Amino acid sequence: MGDERCIGDIGSTPGPWLIAVGGIHGNEAAGVTALERVFAELCDHKVSLKGRLIGFRGNIQALEKKVRYLDEDLNRLWTDSKIEALSAAMESGQAPESAERHEQHQLIQRIEALLSQAPHSVSFVDLHTMSGTGNVFAAYGNTSSNRQFAKVFPIEQVLDIGQHIKGAMLGYFCQRGYASLGFEAGQHDDPGSIERHRALIYLALDHLGVLDLDSLDFVDRDEVRSELSATLKGPRLLDVVYRHAIEEGDDFRMQSGWANFMAVKEGEQLATDRHGPVLAPYDSYMLLPLYQGQGSDGFFLVKEV
Ligand SMILES: [Zn+2]
Repeated sequence: MGDERCIGDIGSTPGPWLIAVGGIHGNEAAGVTALERVFAELCDHKVSLKGRLIGFRGNIQALEKKVRYLDEDLNRLWTDSKIEALSAAMESGQAPESAERHEQHQLIQRIEALLSQAPHSVSFVDLHTMSGTGNVFAAYGNTSSNRQFAKVFPIEQVLDIGQHIKGAMLGYFCQRGYASLGFEAGQHDDPGSIERHRALIYLALDHLGVLDLDSLDFVDRDEVRSELSATLKGPRLLDVVYRHAIEEGDDFRMQSGWANFMAVKEGEQLATDRHGPVLAPYDSYMLLPLYQGQGSDGFFLVKEV
């Protein structure tokens, strides 16, 4: 059905295409596993799609080693200048500078080949998990096509995290006009994260009209919706107002007990680093507290729009 890079590619009837990427961070295999499951289910039940679903593994080398990345973060390399430099280097026969640039080159080639022949609308989803706990959320650039796509998911909605993270893959495709949503489905090793990614993929396919959930007997619309909204108070629309960047040698340590969307008070201690306590600059809500060694985002703060 697929190959090392491509988890699956099904559907030859005209209609919208969904390109899903799992494991762009190699310690986040839940999205890959969920995609493998969805492709297997669709094939086993001989579901014919009105459109096409294509699934890719993001960072294959890091997935094998179960680490976020080997040399650099693959989800920070998607700026125009880095992509131009990469394609110039590859064209002149140079070896990629890092394991991740090699991964990125392969991904770009596969995705661009699809986009060049896509006769209908194409949407992207990027499937992530996190080191901390807390509500599932969708993260996306605040465009009308993204808002339209995102509103079918009964989860918290975080806008414009891309303005605080340079070079995320989805930002690159969003900028080119494609509806592009990132999903954070739970903790890395929580089996529930696989279930939630599966639910998100089915809801995305249903919303796009690639399939009709009501016609399938192996997946239930209400069940997948309640799987996602189980821990939800919202869904709320939130803006990212702050990113705590970690510099090399910072010795950053998040205080224990923080989870997504917990209320934060101005001046409250959130973490410690070599400069001392890291205090909250505003009243806000916590997002993506870092409880793993690799990564340069200590935490984000969000506020309701
Ligand atoms: Zn991730």
